[in-house]
Amino acid sequence: MKVVFWGTRGSLPSTFTKDHLHAHLHNCLRYALDSNTGIKQGQSIDDYLNQMPQHITHTYGVNTSCIEIESDRENEYILCDAGTGIRDFGMLYARRGKLSKPACFHLFLTHLHWDHIQGLPFFVPLYVPGNKIIIHGYHHNIEEYLHQQMNPPCFPVPLKAVGAQLTFDIKQPWEPFEVCGFKIQPLQQNHPGISFGYRFEKENKVIVYSTDCEHTEMAHENGYPFIEFFRNADILIFDAMYSLADATIMKVNWGHSNNFMGIKLAAKAHVKHLLLFHHEPTSDDKALEQFLLDTITYVQLYHKERKSKPNDRFPTNISLASDGLILDI
Ligand SMILES: [Zn+2]
Ligand SMILES: [Zn+2]
Repeated sequence: MKVVFWGTRGSLPSTFTKDHLHAHLHNCLRYALDSNTGIKQGQSIDDYLNQMPQHITHTYGVNTSCIEIESDRENEYILCDAGTGIRDFGMLYARRGKLSKPACFHLFLTHLHWDHIQGLPFFVPLYVPGNKIIIHGYHHNIEEYLHQQMNPPCFPVPLKAVGAQLTFDIKQPWEPFEVCGFKIQPLQQNHPGISFGYRFEKENKVIVYSTDCEHTEMAHENGYPFIEFFRNADILIFDAMYSLADATIMKVNWGHSNNFMGIKLAAKAHVKHLLLFHHEPTSDDKALEQFLLDTITYVQLYHKERKSKPNDRFPTNISLASDGLILDI
């Protein structure tokens, strides 16, 4: 089972400016000119780049929220949210020559904020007759607002004119269901206009997609529903847009959580791999690297102080989600 990250930024797409490129090239050349790490006689450039540390060659990307959960059904696809990342999914899908076969796309929407729907008008399979797009969600006005997003003067092609057949599968907030063999459990989340997280379970594997959710002090009370929602997840995709300082001082009630809250909840719920997600669009690669280092340092300190809580089990893996990341479970 695979999870593919097509967009991992929050609020709006990030930029990759000439200054960001300059910083990457500078580090790359410094590494190459070092006599200990320089390119060897006869070594190919690709081989050399592949051996470089990730912080030099890697970028966390620019797209807003969209992930794919691999389905084992032929011509059926599972996507969560339609931020700008869904455009890259659609482009690669087209480049691989898949547009000639009709397919079914299950699109799970957490909510209707723009960073979660703005890629839909640029989703190539939407325009192909024979394709079926089923939009799953819990907000009753999803259909109305997706039409509004594409009506003039906002967009030249109205949603009613696209080639694919659209179906809106709007559920009750407590209603679990099944898609492509996955048992899917939703949970309402604390966010302006409310959002919904999704827990996907199949063959003893658990993936939780829980973005755009502010966990408050209530998260430390007994019976907090997210502990069961996250319980034993192989992968928890968690809204860690803010630092602890931002989340508790500057950006209270903005609807997002922080990396430390992610650690605490993941430890209580025995999550195996915590993915920090919905990155602040103004954070560049260096800032995100530092954010991860701070998170890991915190875990080491927290570990020492929390010895009295034997039920906590910290994730064996903590990482930052990035555009293009593929995880095997
Ligand atoms: Zn968002
Ligand atoms: Zn939101």
